[in-house]
Amino acid sequence: MSRPAILFPLFAELTALDGVGPKTARLFSRLGVERPAHMLMLLPTGGVDRQLRPTIRGAPLPATLTVEVEIGLHVPPTSRGRPYRIHVRDGGTEFRLVYFHAHAEGLRRLLPAGARRIVSGKVELFDGIAEMVHPDHVLREGESLPEFEPTYPLTQGLTQRNVTRAVAEALARAPALPEWIEPGVKARRGWPDWREAVAAVHRPGSAGDLAAEAPARERLAYDELLSHQMALALARARMRRPKGYATEGDGRLRTRVLEALPFPLTRAQARAAAEIAADMVRAERMNRLLQGDVGAGKTLVALLAMLAAVEAGGQAALMAPTEILARQHALTLGPLAEAAGVRLAVLTGRDKGAERAAKLADLAERRTGIIVGTHALFQADVAFADLRLAVVDEQHRFGVRQRMELGAKGRRADVLVMTATPIPRSLALAAYGDMDLSVLDEKPPGRKPVATALVSSARFDEVVEHLRRAIGEGVQAYWVCPLVGESEVVELAAACERHAALVHALDAPVGLVHGQLPPAEKDAAMADFAAGRTRLLVATTVIEVGVDVPNASIMVIEGAEHFGLAQLHQLRGRVGRGAAKSTCLLMYDPPLGAAARARLEIMRETEDGFRIAEEDLRLRGAGDLLGVAQSGLPSFRIADLERQADLMRVAQDDARLLLATDPELQGERGQAMRTLLYLMEREKAVRLLAAG
Ligand code: ADP
Ligand code: MG
Repeated sequence: MSRPAILFPLFAELTALDGVGPKTARLFSRLGVERPAHMLMLLPTGGVDRQLRPTIRGAPLPATLTVEVEIGLHVPPTSRGRPYRIHVRDGGTEFRLVYFHAHAEGLRRLLPAGARRIVSGKVELFDGIAEMVHPDHVLREGESLPEFEPTYPLTQGLTQRNVTRAVAEALARAPALPEWIEPGVKARRGWPDWREAVAAVHRPGSAGDLAAEAPARERLAYDELLSHQMALALARARMRRPKGYATEGDGRLRTRVLEALPFPLTRAQARAAAEIAADMVRAERMNRLLQGDVGAGKTLVALLAMLAAVEAGGQAALMAPTEILARQHALTLGPLAEAAGVRLAVLTGRDKGAERAAKLADLAERRTGIIVGTHALFQADVAFADLRLAVVDEQHRFGVRQRMELGAKGRRADVLVMTATPIPRSLALAAYGDMDLSVLDEKPPGRKPVATALVSSARFDEVVEHLRRAIGEGVQAYWVCPLVGESEVVELAAACERHAALVHALDAPVGLVHGQLPPAEKDAAMADFAAGRTRLLVATTVIEVGVDVPNASIMVIEGAEHFGLAQLHQLRGRVGRGAAKSTCLLMYDPPLGAAARARLEIMRETEDGFRIAEEDLRLRGAGDLLGVAQSGLPSFRIADLERQADLMRVAQDDARLLLATDPELQGERGQAMRTLLYLMEREKAVRLLAAG
């Protein structure tokens, strides 16, 4: 199976286009244009009004103008370095065409005295006389210009003329293609056919046609999104195709845990747990994302899913990104698992020797039902008796590759990924379109809002004094040290120094955690804080994710302006978990730049993680938000993820629906969809189909 013949002309070498030699082709490749197909997707970013007017007279100068003129006197340069001038007269006035380094013979042929020509270019005043220096266009009688000439993004060495010409050549090769868009969608949106659309985007009639919402442009953006969603849907269909386990628990363990809990599940938790359980029952492999803001109670939902696996006679693994988190999960889940009579073990890089061997044996011989760990779970000698479910916490810390490795431990195991970084729905679709989604959009009741304030570092002493009093009253607090550049050493030095200063200033035990602390000490510091033995915990961002100490109700973030919104949100999520009223102090070094101020103000305004994520997206842009490499977020030539999120949703439905009715893309639209996938160079996705 390979690219359909109808697309061959669009995938020839670029040099097959008239006027494109190897050198120009190299320049084009800097713009991401390697094939004629890419040329069609290189869209104009602006345009020049070339409407013919009777005269330049009265036009505010400088301006790009197009007029018909009668050629007058030629005035060759009187000395070297002077320009060649040609007097011309239009319908209302006289002016001059000006050429530097001119070839006199050529100009006399192009612009013979007494002839009429249409000239178009930038007109400027020079010593009070209007001049058009190097006209963009000189037309003879019978020739015409588009009234609105598109302009393209360029790179050094490439001219508008190069692009315009190459685009015209590519357009001449563009075939009419079968329609892949669902007819209803196309009609509703008033979109043209593909070939019409590529022609139209390169021949805008006015500036309005350059807008992303112009039907031709929108259609091409949609094509990109659709091919992306189709590729994801195919990947998803294939992911699901290998038989998984039909894991159906009888609910016995889950009931015990629910009865042991001092609170009922939130509606969102109950819904997510039911969605996950229903998915696990299916004989196909689950690939699901559990998304919920910090504190939404994902851990419990994960536990219920893991218990379902154990009820069905299997095992489950929960992977955390850090040692601290793995231990904490084990601490909170341990008693609940015990209440259910399930053996839960922890495995991290710290387990060595005989102890580790014993844990591995328990796992291999099924004595351990649930294992919680770090990436140590990926190691080659870790074997499960019957891994049914792998839960991956805080997905952003793990790469896709690691997810795959875990998958290899239980080839058919269901996968549940938990993320506390709320992702705007548009991006969730782009980044995780191959996964099913469960959302915890509700927090457990009784959460008190966290009062958030911005304080200048000039008020450092006041903050410390406030802290001293609060701690005296029994409160616990976090103190997050600033991110200092890239260097962990510098960061560590700063944290140690801050720790020393706070120990001195506060009459209370102060703990310290940072990334370079040996794991055992890190855990000890966390445990001391959780148990209330230390009242203040000074930390670098290692506490960012997941740590849960309900009695902590003050969060001081130093150098808050250096943190991203998502990070600040995660950090603040550490407080507001207990009964006490919580405070978050965002300390900054003045003066605050505009972008930093905008970020901090959003933090002050809202605690809604989804809202914060939307704002973050607005401020930073999609690729940056998730980190393109990590997220596998696609880059599009035309579509704009941030502004065309609605189109992405339509494309997802369109793709999934088509696949549901024509799983192998064999029908007429299915075949057209294959053409689209090839056009967008997603042949990998086509290969997922069984046969041509
Ligand atoms: P997340 O992982 O989503 O950030 P956690 O699972 O750590 O959130 O839960 C945060 C806190 O909320 C924990 O202390 C947990 O015991 C508590 N919690 C979870 N579910 C509920 C519930 N339904 N009602 C009350 N408290 C809950
Ligand atoms: Mg968590």
